[in-house]
Amino acid sequence: MLTSTGCPYKCTFCAIAGLNHYRERTPASVLAEIKECYYEYGVREIDFFDACFFVNKKRCMEIFHGLKKMDLDLSWTCRSRVDLVDNELLQTARDCGLRMIFWGIESADKDILTRIDKNIVPAQTEAAVGMARKLKIKNLGFLMIGNAGEERNDVVKTINWAKKLELDYAQICRTIPKPGSLLNRQITDETGQDYWRDFILGKEQEKRIFNPQSRLTEEEAEKLLKWAYYSYYFRLRFILRTLVNTRSLGELLRYCRVAIRMLSHYFYTDVRFNKNFSFFRFFPHK
Ligand code: SF4
Repeated sequence: MLTSTGCPYKCTFCAIAGLNHYRERTPASVLAEIKECYYEYGVREIDFFDACFFVNKKRCMEIFHGLKKMDLDLSWTCRSRVDLVDNELLQTARDCGLRMIFWGIESADKDILTRIDKNIVPAQTEAAVGMARKLKIKNLGFLMIGNAGEERNDVVKTINWAKKLELDYAQICRTIPKPGSLLNRQITDETGQDYWRDFILGKEQEKRIFNPQSRLTEEEAEKLLKWAYYSYYFRLRFILRTLVNTRSLGELLRYCRVAIRMLSHYFYTDVRFNKNFSFFRFFPHK
C-alpha cells in the first residue's frame, strides 16, 4: 500500500529524489483503505511501500492511533531513513503491528554518506537499529557497493560494521546510476553519454552499468558484492541467531532453501575475493 509518494530528501543515487515531489495521503484516507482491505478482502499483512514512511511523525502517529482504535489483527512493514525515528514513534508503531523496517543505511563511512547526500552518520544508524531491536522489530538494512570515491577497504569496513549491527537481513546492491537520479545526471555530464537515453532510443544494449565515480573496477565491485553476501550470511553467530528466532517449520524450510541456493551458487563463482574470508571459517573476521 502507498500512503505517500516521492521523498523530500535528495540522496544522489536515488531515482525517487529526482523524479517527483513528496505528497502525503491523509490519515483518514489511509485508515479507510486499511479497513476495506481487512474486512472486504481478508488482508492481514501490509507492506507500506512508501519510499520513506516516517517522514511526518504527526501523520504517522495519527495513523497508528487510528489503527489501535480499530484493534485489527494486522502486521506490517515499511521503509525509512534512520534519522526519522525515536522510541515513542517506534513503540507506538510496534503496538499496532509493525514487524520489520527496511532501513536505508548504504555505508559505514561518514565521508561517503556525505558525498552521496545521504546526510546521516553511522551513529544514527546504530541508534535506530538498536531501538528497533529492543522493541522486537526486525531490521533489514540496504547497503551499497560502488559509491563515489569508495575503495575496497571501505566496502569491507561497511560489511563488518553491518555484522555488528546484527541486522536480521542485509540487502547489498551495487550502486548504479538510475535514470532520473542526480548521480545519472552527473555521470552523463562527466562522460558525455546518457546511457538510459541511448537505451530508450535503441542505441545501447541492456547491460549492467557501473558508477565510474567509485575507485573500484567493475570486476572488483562484482566480486566484493558476492563476498559481502557470503560473508554476511554464512556466520555461525548469524545462523544461530536466525535459528533461535525462527517461528515455524515453514520459515525454517524457506531459509534452508535460500541457503542451499546460495551454496550451490558459491561453487560456481569466485567469492573468495577477500583473502581473510573462507567459506569454512564461520567466525567473522576483524
Ligand atoms: S534514498 Fe530514501 S531518503 Fe534518500 S531520496 Fe531516496 S527515498 Fe528519500
